[in-house]
Order: sequence, then structure tokens, then C-alpha cells
Amino acid sequence: MLAHIYIESYKVITPMTNIDITPQSIKIQEDGLGLKWHDGHQTVLPFRFLRGNCGCAVCVDEMTHTRKVGVEDVDPDVRAEDFIEVGNYAVEILWSDLHYEGIYPFKLLRQLCTCPECAVNRQPKS
Ligand SMILES: [Zn+2]
Ligand SMILES: [Zn+2]
Repeated sequence: MLAHIYIESYKVITPMTNIDITPQSIKIQEDGLGLKWHDGHQTVLPFRFLRGNCGCAVCVDEMTHTRKVGVEDVDPDVRAEDFIEVGNYAVEILWSDLHYEGIYPFKLLRQLCTCPECAVNRQPKS
């Protein structure tokens, strides 16, 4: 009975949570942070967009989870200078505006993917 319930609930999990979320490669491109995923998917995250989605305590209030620094607050010319892999689940990006606090879990990077395919997957399933 329990196994049955498990299988039923597994079906409602969105494709997003099923995928292997470790990127095959990460590189800094002219137009943003480029990621290539193990399922063949490719993501380019524009720097300003990514910087504005930083989830660190400076950018998001820890108590209220309110965003304090968003895309609009970020220098339009901000660039990722470098990144460091953190464990095997995230990257820490070194931004040109000297903001080094942000750690971006791979899962978040994939969720932020701006391509039309991922936008469809993000729609709430009813
Ligand atoms: Zn931040
Ligand atoms: Zn995508």
C-alpha cells in the first residue's frame, strides 16, 4: 500500500526535479554564464539577471525572505569575473561589482533557465 502511494506521488513530480542537475560544463561567455547539462540542455544566464537573483543574506532578507537587491538594482554592465565550484552542488560567482557572497546551487541555475522550454516547465501544474 505504501509503495503504491509512493508511485502515485512520484508521477506528479515535475520534470524539473527528475533531471540530473549537475552541469557537464560551466563557462563564462560574452552574453552570460553558459551551462551545459547532462541531459543535453543548454542554458545561458545573462549576468545581470543572474546577479539580480542572488540568494545571499545581503540580497535577500534572511528573516522575511524579501529580496533587497534585485535585477533592477544591479549594474547593467555587471559581469561574472570568475566562479568557484562549491562541493558538487553549487557555484560561487565572483562578480565585477565585487559581490562575492552569492552561491548558486545548480538546481537554482537550472530553474532560472530563460529558454522557452523551461518557461513551459515552470508553469504551475494544476
Ligand atoms: Zn547576494
Ligand atoms: Zn532551458
